[in-house]
Amino acid sequence: MLRLRTMSRCWHQSRTYRVLAIETSCDDACVALLDRFDPARPPRVVEESKHTLDSAHAGGVIPTDAAVHNRTQVAVLTSELLAKHGWTGLDRPDLVCATRGPGMVGSLVGGYQLAQGLSIAWNVPLVGVHHMLGHLLTPRLASNGQEPQFPFLSLMASGGHTMCVLSRSLVDHEILVDTIDIAAGDALDKCGRELGFRGNMIGKELAAFLEQHSREWGQPVDFDIKEPLLNVPGRKDMLAYSFGSFISQVRTNMSKYYPDGTLTDAQKARAGYRLAQTVFRHMVAKIKLAMRLRNIQVDSFVCSGGVAANTMLRTMLRAELPEIKHFHFPEPRLCTDNATMIGWAGIELYESGVRTPIGKSVVRKWPLCELDEYKV
Ligand code: ZN
Repeated sequence: MLRLRTMSRCWHQSRTYRVLAIETSCDDACVALLDRFDPARPPRVVEESKHTLDSAHAGGVIPTDAAVHNRTQVAVLTSELLAKHGWTGLDRPDLVCATRGPGMVGSLVGGYQLAQGLSIAWNVPLVGVHHMLGHLLTPRLASNGQEPQFPFLSLMASGGHTMCVLSRSLVDHEILVDTIDIAAGDALDKCGRELGFRGNMIGKELAAFLEQHSREWGQPVDFDIKEPLLNVPGRKDMLAYSFGSFISQVRTNMSKYYPDGTLTDAQKARAGYRLAQTVFRHMVAKIKLAMRLRNIQVDSFVCSGGVAANTMLRTMLRAELPEIKHFHFPEPRLCTDNATMIGWAGIELYESGVRTPIGKSVVRKWPLCELDEYKV
């Protein structure tokens, strides 16, 4: 029995296999089990698990707290999932994938060291995944790597990053527009706080509030917001994002028009709409500019990341980019940081021949254009 199991594992090794995936680049400890049961079909996500650090009291993610959180939680989640599905002993996973960077070092270490240790103990391959590659390749999971076909454009917008990327192949990605200060999600969180929203995910609450108060959209309100990095004398066609100024603009509005710090729900909705609309207009304008300046013609466009779940942004993208034939909006659970995306990117890399040697360490900064270690 034991011999049969071993033989079948070896014979199927490159065809069907099972994957443990780990993601701990920020304040989420994420683990997923993926079953590559048929190479011609998308892998089955057996179960995914996520434990997010509650930073509501701190007003933001404190790196040392996130590191302790991830180190403890990732081990617990991994052991629970493996035991629950009986992926232990001879039935252990055949491949381990974990985020190696970029991200907060203390956070990354917890997940990556566990992955490396399990890869050694189980004597199975390890793939250290670039976090952004996980986001970029996620939309290809549902079609088993068929759609979107390369080349395609992606807008990745979350609390940690906001960029527009041109992907030409699995390992060839060029950032066309990046933020010069903070990410869109971070700005929306902080602006939401200025407007009076509270909680752990303020940007999400702001978006939900705006959806509920859509009758107020476009109605007059004392609130002046303008797009950053527009053309001015001496600065033309700047290919960059900037979201930091939105926070100072909201603060200026609050002290000018609402000095006691309170807005009615209607004012909140009207001001919030004007803010969100201007943030998204800035995002879309720079994509259009990049496509024009670089003469980019692609059929497919992916919109992913926590901010990408916003329906206002999605509507604007469709209206403003009529030349795009296929829009891909990964489901919200795959838009935020998760381990499934690391598992899928790991599978794509593994099947192209990538193995990460034991002894590589995590990396805080890892430009998306430097993926030479994946070129095999
Ligand atoms: Zn991310």
